[in-house]
Amino acid sequence: MTCFIDLHSHSIVSDGLLTPAQLVAHAANKGIRVLALTDHDDVAGLAEAEVAAEEHGITLIRGVEISVTWRRRTLHIVGLKIDPHSLPLVQGLQQIREGRHIRAKGMAESLSNSGIEGSLEGAYQYAQQGIISRTHFAQYLVAQGYAPDMRGVFKKYLVKGKPGYFEYSWASLADAMSWIIGSGGIPVLAHPGRYDLGRTNMLLLLEEFRNLGGAAIEVVTSSHTPDQYQEFARLAHQFDLKSSLGSDYHGAGHSYLDMGRLPILPTNCKPVWQDWPEAVV
Ligand code: AMP
Ligand code: MN
Ligand code: MN
Ligand code: MN
Repeated sequence: MTCFIDLHSHSIVSDGLLTPAQLVAHAANKGIRVLALTDHDDVAGLAEAEVAAEEHGITLIRGVEISVTWRRRTLHIVGLKIDPHSLPLVQGLQQIREGRHIRAKGMAESLSNSGIEGSLEGAYQYAQQGIISRTHFAQYLVAQGYAPDMRGVFKKYLVKGKPGYFEYSWASLADAMSWIIGSGGIPVLAHPGRYDLGRTNMLLLLEEFRNLGGAAIEVVTSSHTPDQYQEFARLAHQFDLKSSLGSDYHGAGHSYLDMGRLPILPTNCKPVWQDWPEAVV
């Protein structure tokens, strides 16, 4: 059985391929009834997405995916049902986006040191609006023939120890959590299976996340294996956290999975949407 709720997706405001309106249309087409747009570090697509959702008769959840540095590792915290006009959130995201320009220069310099020129201008050509991200550098590298596709490029470039990597410090976990909660939103730990933390650090993270007001973790996401669905369902239960579900869709060829393909949550999970009136059909 597939799920009609999808609480994690991206538009061209961050590193997705579709405009917010196109993304909503795609979701509706794939049978999604409740969609969260969660662009990285930016809320600029929400207004357009909301209009489109109304046209398609589906519910748009206002979201964001905030880049965080925790113990020198990058984590992503999704905020659901945020108020995109909340000042601390707006200002915090603004600061992260400014930092992305500095980081982009560092990434371009690192690539240049490996003989790859023109990547800064190249990447910005793919960043049509909103943020500049590694995805845009990856698109440039693929177009220049340095890798066959998106998955291939992140094996050779842009990751720790490889050309194009530039260590950068994002928001603190405490700040990101307070911006989300302060705006009336619900903090969700995105794709925990992707962090490669080891057991001890994962337990520490979940403890800290919950103590800071964390509400849920993504149990079912396109980057988890079925074994990880079970593993994180158990951890959610252990830490008394709810469970979320999202495709992390970025567009055709840029995602592990299309929308409308994820299975429902394991039966022992408490869905993060359990008391949302709009999630009842
Ligand atoms: P950034 O926030 O600028 O560091 O960019 C991170 C984005 O790069 C993620 O949100 C993904 O969209 C993309 N990304 C990272 N690793 C991979 C990968 N192995 N394959 C495909 N896309 C990736
Ligand atoms: Mn992304
Ligand atoms: Mn993410
Ligand atoms: Mn994402």
